[in-house]
Amino acid sequence: MTRSEPNLRIPGPTSLPPSVREAGARQMINHRGPEFRELLERLQAGMKPYFGTASDIIILSCAGTGGLEAAVVNTLSPGDRVLAVSIGAFGDRFAKIAEAYGATVDRVSAEWGWAAAPDEVRERLGAGDYRAVLLTHNETSTGVMNPIPELAAAIRAAAPDALILVDTVSSLGAVPFDMDGWGVDVVATASQKAWMAAPGLAMVAASDRAWKAMETAKMPRFYLDLRKHLDSMASGETPWTPAIAVAFQVDEGIRLMNEEGQAGVFARHVACAAATQAGLEALGFELFAEPAHRSKTVTAAWIPDGLDWKTFNGEIKRRQLVLAGGQGKLTGKVFRVGHLGSVTVGEILEAIETIEAVSLESGREIEAGAAVAAAERAAGGAALQPA
Ligand SMILES: *Cc1c(COP(=O)(O)O)cnc(C)c1O
Repeated sequence: MTRSEPNLRIPGPTSLPPSVREAGARQMINHRGPEFRELLERLQAGMKPYFGTASDIIILSCAGTGGLEAAVVNTLSPGDRVLAVSIGAFGDRFAKIAEAYGATVDRVSAEWGWAAAPDEVRERLGAGDYRAVLLTHNETSTGVMNPIPELAAAIRAAAPDALILVDTVSSLGAVPFDMDGWGVDVVATASQKAWMAAPGLAMVAASDRAWKAMETAKMPRFYLDLRKHLDSMASGETPWTPAIAVAFQVDEGIRLMNEEGQAGVFARHVACAAATQAGLEALGFELFAEPAHRSKTVTAAWIPDGLDWKTFNGEIKRRQLVLAGGQGKLTGKVFRVGHLGSVTVGEILEAIETIEAVSLESGREIEAGAAVAAAERAAGGAALQPA
């Protein structure tokens, strides 16, 4: 099959549906007028069920990292003790942000490829007076999804007053999340991951406890001051000029997600993850993540010994399939397939077919057609399972 454009299978930015592209090309509006106010209200209403919160969702014009920075600087003070639970590159980044603003950061790190262990977190918390715990929901660098309900319960048990700040950049909108029910205090996500839009917006929600913490938190903040954003939101505005074109796109992305229904969106992500993982395994690739906590939005696989990845991936790119490489210490060791946002099982099967064709061409010993069949079976099976 010839494509007019690449099958962009990286974990963000994700490819845009046609109507989302059109939304981004619309004429500008006054961001201090009724149209923008209505847009903000629709975004709020559309996102809350995916955040699992009744709290306000603040829309910042920045990358996802800006959302993480907002979580830190709005709730903490220099010198606060923070436990950073890291299972990969993004967990490390969250810890560095807190350090950059003067928090005293202790780390508990899982071996890359593994989820965080609630017992270990509980134990570490018992040993210190922590103001906050940093967690990653979906670790995009390793393809591992942390069990946030269990981790949050462990934190609540050991340190009832600690704030729980969660990086949900590559998970919200794709998989179930219950911020209020799980007792999470701040979450941050970004437009270019599961929300089917271009990069440019970070969306942040805070619990009542977190809003209260903002009154006394002393880390410096101005652009990302969530209190300023909340004040402006009361009149349907943002304090600074927002990325309006991206807001149009997220609005359209949410409209598409609503049309599909939340259960449908989640089931599609489960099916695409199952297809990716079964397909890659059938192609002889060893998956990087432990089976119990494999991500529903991104899959990492080892580059086999003896495979010249540069040549192999060059051939994949020539066939219009774009995969992601490894990050940090996994550079050159793994490759990653993104399956979030506007993704279909068909696009995953196509990707597996391409990797299979290049594998056969490069003399890897696999059975022609077996991987696509395995992926298709896995997707069908997954579609019958609840998300
Ligand atoms: C993509 C991502 C980020 C960073 O988002 P940017 O928009 O690149 O700043 C942070 N955390 C996770 C888990 C991500 O997947």
